[in-house]
Amino acid sequence: MIKTSQNAVLLDFGLKTKRLSYQILDSLKVKVSAAVVSHCHSDHINTYSYRVLKERGIPVYCHEKSLRGVLTQIDRPDTEINTFNGSFSIASMNILPFELPHRPDCSNYGFIFEYKNIRVAIATDFYSWDDSILHLLADCDFLFLESNHDSYLLTLNPNPNSCYHLSNHQASNLLSEMKRKKRALPKTIMFGHLSQKRNQPHLPENELKKHFFKHGINIDSSVFVAPSDCPSQEIFILPATAQIASKY
Ligand SMILES: [Zn+2]
Repeated sequence: MIKTSQNAVLLDFGLKTKRLSYQILDSLKVKVSAAVVSHCHSDHINTYSYRVLKERGIPVYCHEKSLRGVLTQIDRPDTEINTFNGSFSIASMNILPFELPHRPDCSNYGFIFEYKNIRVAIATDFYSWDDSILHLLADCDFLFLESNHDSYLLTLNPNPNSCYHLSNHQASNLLSEMKRKKRALPKTIMFGHLSQKRNQPHLPENELKKHFFKHGINIDSSVFVAPSDCPSQEIFILPATAQIASKY
């Protein structure tokens, strides 16, 4: 969730039951203006969480290329979903979507959220990147970056879909390439979208330290990890009028 002093936007809302969806919304204690969906997989939107959003009057947004998949996922072919195909605004936030490669049958998007002079990047569910993505992510105050699985744990619990996600090693590679090419990293980085079976909370940062040490690069960012089974801590981004809150 991205939260300012006035309101909040959910980025994806794919909880497994209606009960859990109510629980999470009630725990936020903030006015939620919208839910923005990155792609059509059930851990990002599903029929249970969608019904709860609808009951609470929270509008849902997705890219027009994702619409068909999202409607199928929520089992509501005639439902009205707001679509975008470029930058758009919700409340006082400007939101810039950018495409990230995921499964071939599924269009997936990362986002830059702009509020006043603060830029926040969210990038999950992808497996490769180019210079334009690096540039977008480097130029932010906060980056939420997928670090899905550890390569060794993947050998113990094989999953053919893991190849569509960024491993701990790839996430470290992306950040070291960013540092080499852009000479800077976001001031605050949070690793997220960790696999429960194929990752552990300490592994992404261990990999980053190992990788940066090997290449003689200093880590001058604050690094956090979002647990896969409970809310992360809130991260506050200056100035004080803007904040980022927990991500599941
Ligand atoms: Zn996915």
